[in-house]
Amino acid sequence: MPLNNLIDGRSIAEQIHQETRQRIATLKTRGIQPGLDFVRVGEDPASMVYVGMKEKACARLGIASRLHVLPATSPQAELLALLGRLNADPAVHGILVQAPLPRPLDAAAVFATVSPAKDVDGFHPLNMGKLLLGDPTGFVACTPAGIHELLIRAEVRLEGAEVVILGRGNIVGKPLLAILIQKARHANATVTLCHSQTRDLAGHCRRADVLVAALGVPEFVQAHMVKPGAVVVDVGVNRIADPAAKGGSRLVGDVEFAGVQPRAGRITPNPGGVGPMTIAMLMRNTVRAAEQAAGMAANP
Ligand code: NAP
Repeated sequence: MPLNNLIDGRSIAEQIHQETRQRIATLKTRGIQPGLDFVRVGEDPASMVYVGMKEKACARLGIASRLHVLPATSPQAELLALLGRLNADPAVHGILVQAPLPRPLDAAAVFATVSPAKDVDGFHPLNMGKLLLGDPTGFVACTPAGIHELLIRAEVRLEGAEVVILGRGNIVGKPLLAILIQKARHANATVTLCHSQTRDLAGHCRRADVLVAALGVPEFVQAHMVKPGAVVVDVGVNRIADPAAKGGSRLVGDVEFAGVQPRAGRITPNPGGVGPMTIAMLMRNTVRAAEQAAGMAANP
């Protein structure tokens, strides 16, 4: 009999989209259409797919989106000038610069140039700082915000829980740590953040009530690393060669799903777990940016 311990990111993301649609309808009664501008530099195939998915979500919800594509060889000054124009345009409520940026562009300087009020990706240092300080007025990066929302709506108890996060990246691991350590409802967890220099990583994993894999290593988490009954969240998106697959490759997560699922209490499928939540948070952040620009009360 198939196990039914999945945390269904697609259906939870759909609930959030429904809430976002209602907020968009309220904005429309005031003559406001939320606007999200995407900036892509170069033709990285994965970035093209990600931006395409986000544009589709905008179209489904009624958010106006525009895509700005710069050549991979664009100088930093050209990208910063574009961001300056978008920062100044009142029809643009959110700005998303798709990562990774081609070398030698300085991603940190680019993210710091996006207006914090339009930084719906939550990568501006001001928004990162607010997150760490527990100030709810900033924007939270979409993937960790999506993981948090997924755990809350799946009724996973975080207060007092041992959470182990694999990966200290700026996009997932670090901001997720900052969310879960807050002295706040749906947080108050004890968080261990592991990385490539961690000793006895499997031992840390086996202590976890909630194990989040965000390292970008295909099927890294194996059954023996998981405490029976633990909640496992698979963030990884890794393309691996597979001669039997269409196009000679396929996507896998950071968790060896078939082995881990029977041992886990709950587990996110991949795809269909964290990915849809990331997009749902981006849409919600954009609507919030539009509400704030209109002087309306701030909701998450
Ligand atoms: P990142 O910035 O490259 O960080 C990877 C982290 O994993 C680093 O801290 C690295 O350690 C650690 N690591 C790598 N190999 C390790 C190993 N063998 N043992 C222990 N730690 C190891 O990656 P990221 O941007 O956070 O992304 C992580 C994964 O999430 C990727 O697969 C990415 O595609 C995926 N992702 C998915 C979504 C989504 O919406 N589903 C969104 C964003 C990212 P060091 O710091 O020591 O190098």
